[in-house]
Amino acid sequence: MDIQITADKIRAGERRALARAITLVESTRRDDRTRAADLLSALGTDHQALRIGLSGTPGVGKSTFIETFGKMLTGQGLRVAVLAVDPSSTRSGGSILGDKTRMDLLARDPLAFIRPSPSQTQLGGVARRTREAIALCEAAKFDVVLIETVGVGQSETAVAEMSDLFLLLLAPAGGDELQGVKRGIMETCDIILVNKADGDLKPQAMRTCADYASALRLMRKRAQDPPRDTHDFPKAMAVSALQEDGIDAAWGEIQTLASWRKDTGIWDARRASQSRFWFQEEVRAGLLSRLTSDKGVKAELAALEDDVAQGKFRPAQAAETAIAKLFPPAGSKHGDAPDETGDTG
Ligand code: GDP
Repeated sequence: MDIQITADKIRAGERRALARAITLVESTRRDDRTRAADLLSALGTDHQALRIGLSGTPGVGKSTFIETFGKMLTGQGLRVAVLAVDPSSTRSGGSILGDKTRMDLLARDPLAFIRPSPSQTQLGGVARRTREAIALCEAAKFDVVLIETVGVGQSETAVAEMSDLFLLLLAPAGGDELQGVKRGIMETCDIILVNKADGDLKPQAMRTCADYASALRLMRKRAQDPPRDTHDFPKAMAVSALQEDGIDAAWGEIQTLASWRKDTGIWDARRASQSRFWFQEEVRAGLLSRLTSDKGVKAELAALEDDVAQGKFRPAQAAETAIAKLFPPAGSKHGDAPDETGDTG
C-alpha cells in the first residue's frame, strides 16, 4: 500500500480505500501500526464531521434507529459513517454489525459507510482503533460519524470521550426502572431517546420520557456548575425508529445543540479536552505494554506481587520499589536499593 496514493483515494471518498485503511488501523502488527501512523499523519485533520455517540442495551432498537436516522440524513445529501465499539462482543467474528440483516438499507446506500466492530476484547485497543477509524472517516469527508456501543462496562465512557454529542437510546419502562440507568450515563448524555413510542407501547413510552425529563431537570438544578448547555439540555424525547416518528425532531435538537456549542466555543474545548484525555490514556497504555512485554520486568513484577500476597511488603511499598527499579534515579545504576530516595547528588 502506497501511503500517498491511499491518502488521496481516501480524500476522494473511495470507500474501498477507506475500508482497507480501517483494516490497517485495526491491525496490531508492528509494521502495520507504523504504516497506519504514517497514513493518519499524511491525511491531516482538515475536515471535521459531527461525531455522534449512541448507546443502548441490545434490543432497544439501535440498528433500527441508525437505519432510519441514517437514511434521513443521506436523504438530505449528507454522508454518514457508522462505526461500532463493542469490546465484549462474543458474536461470530466479534462483529455486532456483521450480520447482513442489520441496517440493510443503509448498508446499500452510496452515501453511507458501515463498519463492523473489530473483534477485540481489550477496550484500550478498540478505543484507539475506533478513534483512528473516526479520523479516517473525517478525512474521507463524511458529514456525520455515528459511533454505536452497547451500554455495558466502560465502552460507553470511551464512546462519550470520542463524540461531540452523546445519545442514549432507552426502551419504554415500568415505573421504577428509572433507577436502573447509571447516573454517570445520565450526566454524559445530551439527549435521551425513548424508542418504541408507537402502537401499544406509546403511552408507556410517553410516561417514561416524562420521568426522564424530570430526572434530568432535577439533575440540572442540583448541578453545582452553571448549566453546561443551552436551556433544556440534556433532554428526553420519545421516538419511534420503526415508524420513523420523531427522528427529524431529534436531528433538529442535535443540530441546535451542535451549533450552540460551536458558537460558544464549547465544541472546540470539548475536542481539546478529549485529545488530552486520549493522550494520557495512550501514555498509560504504552507504559504498561512496555512493562508487560519485557520478560525480565514481568518476572520481577510477578515476584514482587507474590511478596505482596504473602504479606512481606505493603502493595504501595512494593509498587514504589518496582517503579524505582524501572526508572532508576539519574546517576545511579539500575536501582537495586528498594528504599533509595533518589537524591544521589
Ligand atoms: P439493537 O439490538 O439495539 O440494535 O435493536 P434492534 O434495532 O435490532 O431492534 C430490536 C427489536 O426492536 C427489533 O425487533 C425491532 O424491530 C424492534 N424495534 C426497534 N425499534 C422499534 C420501534 O421504534 N418500535 C417498535 N415497536 N419496535 C422497534
